[in-house]
Amino acid sequence: MRCPSCGNPESKVVDSRPAEEDTAIRRRRECLECGRRFTTYERLGDTPLIVIKTDGSSEVYDRQKLLRGLLIACAKRPVNPDQLAALIDSIEAELRNTMRNEIGSKELGDMALIRLAHLDDVAYVRFASVYKDFQNIEEFSNALEAMRNI
Ligand SMILES: [Zn+2]
Repeated sequence: MRCPSCGNPESKVVDSRPAEEDTAIRRRRECLECGRRFTTYERLGDTPLIVIKTDGSSEVYDRQKLLRGLLIACAKRPVNPDQLAALIDSIEAELRNTMRNEIGSKELGDMALIRLAHLDDVAYVRFASVYKDFQNIEEFSNALEAMRNI
């Protein structure tokens, strides 16, 4: 788990506690390089969620990958990593509650977008442009329109 500020892979655990009704361990970590504190969630051996990509291939859901995409979309925006962790928790909770064990990558992207719309407009559009792979300005403006309706 790399530091979200400086990317240093080494951190120490400063606090651990059960989270999400004991299905995960929440850890507060402190970067050994810059001292930044951040939160990680480690899942306890439940069935892995499978993400089906648009080309039909599949991969195991990777929380860090989703987080990285969100962090890039939120670069220089007033959204902090804890808000993004909460956003992903909310998606994971929804998936667990519906007992889903697979999801399309577009649907996963949409679940993130709905939540991102409430956090930051610019981050929403950036994330949408990656996830929806806009081919032209019309698709772009449709996404803006969709955001206004969320
Ligand atoms: Zn650091």
